[in-house]
Amino acid sequence: MKSLLSGMSVLVVDDEPFILETTAFMLDRLGFKNVFTAENALQALGFIDTADPPVGLVLSDLNMPDVDGVELLRQFDERGFEGDIVLFSGEDSRTLNMAESLARARNLSVLGAVSKPLKLDELSVLLAKAGSVLRKTGASAPNLVTPESLAAAIKAGELVPWFQPKIDIVSKEVVAVEALVRWPSKTEGMIFPDQFIPVAEEHGMIDDLTFLLMEKAVATEAEWRRQGVNLKVAVNVSMDSLYDLTFPERIGEYLNKSEGSALQFQLEVTESRLMEDLIGPLDVLLRLRLKKISLSIDDFGTGHSNLTQLRDLPFDELKLDRSFVQGAATDERTRAILESTIMMAKKLGMKIVSEGVETLDDWNLVASLGCDQVQGYFISRPLPGDDIPAWVKNWPTLCESLFPKLED
Ligand code: C2E
Ligand code: CA
Ligand code: CA
Repeated sequence: MKSLLSGMSVLVVDDEPFILETTAFMLDRLGFKNVFTAENALQALGFIDTADPPVGLVLSDLNMPDVDGVELLRQFDERGFEGDIVLFSGEDSRTLNMAESLARARNLSVLGAVSKPLKLDELSVLLAKAGSVLRKTGASAPNLVTPESLAAAIKAGELVPWFQPKIDIVSKEVVAVEALVRWPSKTEGMIFPDQFIPVAEEHGMIDDLTFLLMEKAVATEAEWRRQGVNLKVAVNVSMDSLYDLTFPERIGEYLNKSEGSALQFQLEVTESRLMEDLIGPLDVLLRLRLKKISLSIDDFGTGHSNLTQLRDLPFDELKLDRSFVQGAATDERTRAILESTIMMAKKLGMKIVSEGVETLDDWNLVASLGCDQVQGYFISRPLPGDDIPAWVKNWPTLCESLFPKLED
């Protein structure tokens, strides 16, 4: 772990140059080789937003002019910052404890809060716990999914799409399916995307994965059509792919070569980090749009997607994250936010899809809020491609059992 940690990017934030210098020196003594400094919160945020690899550890002063440490924590939360945090300050221990609790309440990974001046031995004890970014990006299941085993599986075409139906909330017809990648491993059994998508993104394999899935989804859709089943297919795309300016051409060529028509395909874009530079993705999204491929912004309500991006980026569908939808069932305030988000997206001409609808109550809630389509276990779990035509044919029967007729 020591050697992994030594390569991790560390950022020290303090408005006093002397503290920056001594802290950086201590970190160097502790074996951290990639140490950066920022003199204020804005500089720190700018650095964090663009750092590649991501910043794994931040040491920040609480008292700074302009944007203070508390505001900085809020900004970290909004960005979904996953690294570890150490707070320090000249304030009394009660203030430090409060700041620490606030950061925890925001689900940030706080290693501790210490008073100034920092001491080498104190820091060394705290930093022994560092490494949450490393744990999240692959170090978590090293034996199950390695970059090598994943690369081999992609090359051999072992990854397959399963499909989850999307239902129109008014007509109750099956309008589309979402392709969700699965890895049926010969040695490990079925492996789910949460375990290997981050590895693919980290090791430059995500485009190959996307194109493999696209190829299989196109072939499967053609087969369904031969069986008389017409469905739009949504494929997931990482935001990372949208920084590659050749991406639209490659998708376009793909659809031209295959039997699939662009109108039949939709891309669901998930953001795994904040978009600092909008020009690259905007260029790519617009060209996909010109190719008549419909675009959906995924996981809305979590992570980094925000209202400004709705205004500036050419999405025609918004997918509400399931945590957002399920939160609205129990919490008034989440519901209020959900209501106004839906209203705003509609004014921008977007279609709204709710994912994670698990019960009839969930369905009724999102229907009352004005959602257009629904996806979730209440309708169906993701299914292998071969099962879809039969499922679609049986849907009217299933539908009747799901929605009890009102007595009159
Ligand atoms: P997502 O795009 O938000 O997909 C929805 C996830 O929620 C899927 O998990 C699905 O199986 C699950 N789900 C659907 N309905 C319900 C429900 O009613 N309740 C609950 N609790 N869960 C439900 P899955 O298949 O494990 O995929 C996880 C994530 O992995 C996806 O989230 C997506 O971000 C990513 N992913 C999946 N396939 C691909 C792919 O081909 N390419 C890329 N880049 N990412 C993918
Ligand atoms: Ca999706
Ligand atoms: Ca989601």
